[in-house]
Amino acid sequence: MRIGQGFDVHAFESGGRLVLGGVLVPHSHSLKAHSDGDVLLHALCDALLGAAGLGDIGQHFPDTDETYRHADSRTLLRSVGEKLQARGFTLVNADMTLIAQSPRLAPYIAAMGETIAADLDAPVECINVKATTTEHLGFTGREEGIAALAVVLIDRQSRA
Ligand code: MG
Repeated sequence: MRIGQGFDVHAFESGGRLVLGGVLVPHSHSLKAHSDGDVLLHALCDALLGAAGLGDIGQHFPDTDETYRHADSRTLLRSVGEKLQARGFTLVNADMTLIAQSPRLAPYIAAMGETIAADLDAPVECINVKATTTEHLGFTGREEGIAALAVVLIDRQSRA
């Protein structure tokens, strides 16, 4: 068994589409990024790559590469999932935390879990997404952006 952790932050900008965990979340702001700015999927990709000893998302999908401009991060996640699968790794579980003062994310959490499970070809029970605020403290508290944490466990045996 191997564990991996991931962390990502993106700043808000006015307008645009806010996509978190592959789910469109209605909001006045979106996340500034080369890709679609899906901070949750980026943290998850880094955790998966880290667990497999495969470096990080920047090495696999460089933001200097025009291929990934406005990239749907679900495509990146599926690609990471395939890299792990090709090496015989199975996801045991993934636990993630979105850190955002706004918008309210509770209504979208279940859909994020289902989306991620589908993209990783994993049972939905293996995927846990949470959200918290920072009680108005720090950059997330000032609503300057969103942060995300992810931890995963993978193994090389077939799932029971
Ligand atoms: Mg990112």
